[in-house]
Amino acid sequence: MSVYAQKVLDSLKTRYADQPEFVQAATEILNTLQPVIEKHPEYEKAGLLERYVEPERIIIFRVPWIDDEGKVQVNRGYRVQFNSAIGPYKGGLRLHPSVNLSIIKFLGLEQILKNSLTGLPIGGGKGGSDFDPKGKSDNEVMRFCQSFMTELYRHIGKDVDVPAGDIGVGAREIGYLYGQYKRITGLYEGVLTGKGLTYGGSLARTQATGYGLCYFTEAMLKANGQQIAGKTVVISGSGNVAIYANEKITQMGAKVVAMSDSNGYVYDPNGIQLNVVKEIKEGRRGRIREYVDAVPGATYTEGCSGIWTIPCDIALPCATQNEINGESAEQLIKNGVMAVAEGANMPSTLEATAAFQKAGVLFGPAKAANAGGVAVSALEMSQNSLRLSWTFDEVDNRLKDIMNGIFSKVNAAAKEYATEGDYVAGANIAGFLKVAEAMMAQGAV
Ligand code: NDP
Repeated sequence: MSVYAQKVLDSLKTRYADQPEFVQAATEILNTLQPVIEKHPEYEKAGLLERYVEPERIIIFRVPWIDDEGKVQVNRGYRVQFNSAIGPYKGGLRLHPSVNLSIIKFLGLEQILKNSLTGLPIGGGKGGSDFDPKGKSDNEVMRFCQSFMTELYRHIGKDVDVPAGDIGVGAREIGYLYGQYKRITGLYEGVLTGKGLTYGGSLARTQATGYGLCYFTEAMLKANGQQIAGKTVVISGSGNVAIYANEKITQMGAKVVAMSDSNGYVYDPNGIQLNVVKEIKEGRRGRIREYVDAVPGATYTEGCSGIWTIPCDIALPCATQNEINGESAEQLIKNGVMAVAEGANMPSTLEATAAFQKAGVLFGPAKAANAGGVAVSALEMSQNSLRLSWTFDEVDNRLKDIMNGIFSKVNAAAKEYATEGDYVAGANIAGFLKVAEAMMAQGAV
């Protein structure tokens, strides 16, 4: 690591010792920027890295809401407006009991580079709350979302900050959030993405992250003389990203044999029947273990990390951060995995990433591989501004082009600045260069 980057990282580690996920994400990024720092000594004088790791603004707020028993509940809301050098802040909202400032900051830091890689004019932000939508009634979720937006609305806008979904935030939550924004401001504008199709949403947004992940994986394999058809795949999670990654990779001729949720995983040697998963997860917000009730021959195992012991050619972690540790990575390698592409954000620990790279496993890092979601969100913003709706195929084709473009940029940056095939360094460097140039041009702001 360069002396300058190391200095910035050391200072972060001291100041934010209580934010391990944020420090982890910063470590991974700063570790790879040495060639860029060497080429641009002017960055140090401009305090560029210090500015890059410090959010422009953090908003933390109380979210009071009334449960079905009439009792007042209180959660904490966050919006981290990290970097607006290349466009308005853009990034999802996460609703999960584990949400804290460290998690939102790590997601925001990653989002800056991811958004840059899409080539679209969007800055980086992220938000959410420690509210758990699981087990809540629709009315409780609605009251929470309305209260959350009653504070958030003053900080966002179609040219200011455009949130979207993430863990725990799907079409239902976006609808409630949008309704409240419109009610308070009187504005019918594209302030959120992932909206329903009847009120400004984009076709293919639901599929975008999962499909995009598969387009990226296809490009990565192709560049290395491989193909997806015929491969055995394990996908963790069974939410939005996991479901549509399964759908696309199956269409591409692979067989998905396992999926999971936070309680456990199902293994189906005949190939997971996605219609059953969709019915359980999208249809009735059920649990993945219910899959075995519908599909004889499939097995359910309690505990989610065991999914990585199943032999596969391609692993697509699509659940959450740090779900593959060093040990799980070694197990996957021992079982012959040839490619890992991250659908979730930072699902591999630093040890796991190092193990995959050392073993020569093709490794597609999240900020490149899962950028399809935010890319189509940006296309949703364009459609809203134009007052137009593009067809599914039109959006899907643009998504494919964007994901292929991201792979090319990442591949080229890896070759030029780091080691050929090091897509972690390639993604960080390609994403960073554009943001850095914009920040330099705009002065010390
Ligand atoms: P969903 O809420 O739709 O699904 C999340 C899935 O991951 C569920 O199966 C959930 O299981 C599981 N999961 C969540 N938290 C944990 C945990 N702590 N341990 C184990 N499993 C867990 O979310 P998404 O599919 O939208 O998001 C999944 C990942 O993809 C996240 O990392 C997100 O940041 C990332 N991502 C999402 C994008 C999008 O467009 N939605 C875009 C880019 C990245 P359970 O139901 O039991 O909680």
